[in-house]
Amino acid sequence: MMPLPGRFLTSVLVRRDGDLFLFDSGEGTQVSMKMLNLKWKKISAVFISHMHADHVTGLPGILMLSSQVDRTEPLYIVGPQKLRDYVESSRRILDMYINYEIRFIPVETGVVFSGDGFTIQAFPLIHTKPCYGYALVEERRKGEFFPEKAEALGIPRGKLWGMLQNGGTVELEDGRIIDSSMVMGEARDGRKISYVTDTAYFESIADYVHDSDILFCEGMFEKALAATAREKRHMTSYEAGLVARDSCSRILCLQHYSPRYSDKELKILERDAKEVFPDTVLTKDRMTFAVPLKD
Ligand SMILES: [Zn+2]
Ligand SMILES: [Zn+2]
Repeated sequence: MMPLPGRFLTSVLVRRDGDLFLFDSGEGTQVSMKMLNLKWKKISAVFISHMHADHVTGLPGILMLSSQVDRTEPLYIVGPQKLRDYVESSRRILDMYINYEIRFIPVETGVVFSGDGFTIQAFPLIHTKPCYGYALVEERRKGEFFPEKAEALGIPRGKLWGMLQNGGTVELEDGRIIDSSMVMGEARDGRKISYVTDTAYFESIADYVHDSDILFCEGMFEKALAATAREKRHMTSYEAGLVARDSCSRILCLQHYSPRYSDKELKILERDAKEVFPDTVLTKDRMTFAVPLKD
């Protein structure tokens, strides 16, 4: 929550099918993006949790960075109403050159952004200011098509195959009725990536982030400082572990650490979370994760 040498602020970049989505943008986020050597700087949309400096002061730099590439697509910015004022006043006062359209979407609970095969949903958190978490949720994908099954059933290639692949039912010339389930596998689950910061712990966070492949969640304090965390409307890493466990998530990525912990002492946060959720990762700057498609 405070930039330190070797530890920038909390920000998560998700790359999906050529789209880049940025969740929060603290001071220096663009430096990390440069270090990652992203060839394609066209961020499709930015999602801001709340209007605290450690989550937004990197945004003007990101907007400038996005001007270095030709783009005709607008940039969507999702966040609290005040974010629009922040972006517009920065742009005006700093004479920022921005060569693309910015479309502002005020955040509210529910779907705030959607694209081909996925939505991004917002849910309310409990902090000292209005604050939202986000989840990128993919739709279920069609099951696999088995051509050998279609051939064995004597279904002629072409239009009928296409109808079956689209989940339809077909009638063959000999009168047999073939349902797509006879030649297709089960529909496959989509992926889910959730982003939670800054918030006090409450039980229903687990419902919002249910079944996440990756849960990025704040774990600002150690378990022994639970009272401090509650008072400041933040979470302990142990509570992040509870959210990960109760939501049946696959991996918990801890983030947004208190500057009171040195790099070595961050192990305390990891240990506390692992007490309830062993698949916990202490994230570091520019760490990357792959989330493979599910079979
Ligand atoms: Zn913060
Ligand atoms: Zn905050």
